[in-house]
Amino acid sequence: MSKSACPSPHTPQHGSNGSVLDGQVLVLNQTYEPLNVTTVRRALRLVTKHKAEVLEKNGAIIHSPAITLEAPSVVRMLYRVKRPLPELKLTRRSVFARDGHKCQYCGRSDIPLTIDHVVPRCRKGATSWSNVVASCIRCNNVKGDRLPKEAGMKLRKTPRRPRYTPYISLPTFLSAQRAGRWGEYLDPWMKCDL
Ligand SMILES: [Zn+2]
Repeated sequence: MSKSACPSPHTPQHGSNGSVLDGQVLVLNQTYEPLNVTTVRRALRLVTKHKAEVLEKNGAIIHSPAITLEAPSVVRMLYRVKRPLPELKLTRRSVFARDGHKCQYCGRSDIPLTIDHVVPRCRKGATSWSNVVASCIRCNNVKGDRLPKEAGMKLRKTPRRPRYTPYISLPTFLSAQRAGRWGEYLDPWMKCDL
């Protein structure tokens, strides 16, 4: 298959069994805030129950004996879903997602990554958003129990806690955003340069 064709941001995303109904749909709150990623099947249920409207279609056609319709890619709730903001958990996955799956010292993404404590734990460095970064195992070994400065290494960015807490998990949000999926709906919510 040719890879030269530029996929549309609303390219059908099929589930593992290849069914259009298992494709992914971005659900926005009435306020347009990204709320959830669900399946085409569940999104259509929201639409047929008049709980949500379709904002974007993904181009895939759903055939059933009674009806033929296009699968949605983005739906918006017709009422405001009130939900407490989730807690932004500091996990390996979230740190790797924040750091773009790149070593924060050498920038490489083709070497297995690990978590580096900028101020090493043995020197009372905290496990916090501002003290952990993605690091390739090579840089992590070179740095050892030293501060970056002592090891002659430099961080590409100052690590910090993401300013925006998405309802969708941070890795899902960032990977969809970086892949250009639902970009126009996700970008406005990215208030900091991750
Ligand atoms: Zn590295």
